[in-house]
Amino acid sequence: MDKTVGILGGGQLGRMLAESASLLNIDVVILDSGDYTPAKQIVVPRTAEKAHIDGSFTDPAKIRELAKKVDVLTVEIEHVDVGVLEEIESSVPLGIHPSPSTIRIVQDKFLQKQHLKASGVPVSEFLPVERTVESIQSAIDKLGLPLMLKSRTLAYDGRGNFVIHDPSQIDQALIALKDRPLYAEKWVPFINEIAVMVVRDTKGETTSYPAVETVHKENVCHLVFAPLRSRDPAVPHRAKQVAEAAVKTFQGAGIFGVEMFLMQDGSIYVNEIAPRPHNSGHYTIEGCETSQYENHLRAILSLPLGSTALKVPSTAMLNVLGASSNHQEIFDFTNFAVTVPGTTIHLYGKAECRKGRKMGHVTVVAQNDAELRSRLRPLLERIPGGSS
Ligand code: ATP
Ligand code: MG
Ligand code: MG
Repeated sequence: MDKTVGILGGGQLGRMLAESASLLNIDVVILDSGDYTPAKQIVVPRTAEKAHIDGSFTDPAKIRELAKKVDVLTVEIEHVDVGVLEEIESSVPLGIHPSPSTIRIVQDKFLQKQHLKASGVPVSEFLPVERTVESIQSAIDKLGLPLMLKSRTLAYDGRGNFVIHDPSQIDQALIALKDRPLYAEKWVPFINEIAVMVVRDTKGETTSYPAVETVHKENVCHLVFAPLRSRDPAVPHRAKQVAEAAVKTFQGAGIFGVEMFLMQDGSIYVNEIAPRPHNSGHYTIEGCETSQYENHLRAILSLPLGSTALKVPSTAMLNVLGASSNHQEIFDFTNFAVTVPGTTIHLYGKAECRKGRKMGHVTVVAQNDAELRSRLRPLLERIPGGSS
């Protein structure tokens, strides 16, 4: 395909996007700091003009330089300089997807929640707060304890979250979330976390992948099970409807990850939306007829979207996080994982291993849930850092 896609960000999502692009002969130019980021490692430019750019995805000059080289711009992370994207939007031949207006809303979690609420998407209660003890105490008075205090910006892997169980922790919370604008969310006593990947084409039509269950450990996605098994058979379909309705409130094409909370009574709240490929959609590479990455490329290049159907009955994705700075622990695990039938290993090529850092993932496919569990169990027993 004679098209060039520019990606802001060169981490694992950019790497998997580039893997998909290579199958379609789509050229990819990556903007990130360093010459050997996970995505840059696997893309050798076809011509000198398509060389990657060394710089930050928050640097306006570098973003402009990237825009001049490509047909379409996309992001693997929402924490980019959106002002410059708005300025150059009309100069990029096939545009910027997701739209800068979407990125602007999503990158501020408080604006995102306000937008979703105003659009009629179900979200739990939340309030703006100032960085003062009085303001946070007033949020506790209105929303109760525990209170989820969140950073409005630059949040990922729960690093902008602080759970206040007692008002005496307010000072500690302000220190932990220093220099960040904040807002407060009512605590949601969900029974499960679920997610749906939604893909939207350039005409605004949406289609979605099966609902999945996401299991978090210390705020970080640990496991994903696809499809979602629920006692109420109507839940997966409703989750898809909620997710597609939420994505329709935003502008621009591409893939979106919609994180949701499932309540005991079957109701669903949207937690947050990522306007890009998402960890809860990694399973689509081996589990679905078209992966989230390929469908993202198809969507932003105005190609027909591929089927989002599962092609295996039961799938799980297990994140491989660093347990320490020791890469060997990761290799010991993957040396075992290669012996487990139905397991595909994805390592991201990160130079440094750190505790809690996403170093890779494995996807396990099976003919039924019992087979999936038997394949997953020995992997969970050996995962660096433990599974509980
Ligand atoms: P991500 O890496 O998914 O972008 P994040 O840093 O943006 O993470 P959130 O998704 O807001 O953080 O929260 C992380 C986790 O914290 C959620 O997956 C959920 O387990 C828990 N959580 C978030 N909000 C609430 C809430 N209001 N009540 C209870 N638990 C919550
Ligand atoms: Mg987030
Ligand atoms: Mg999240």
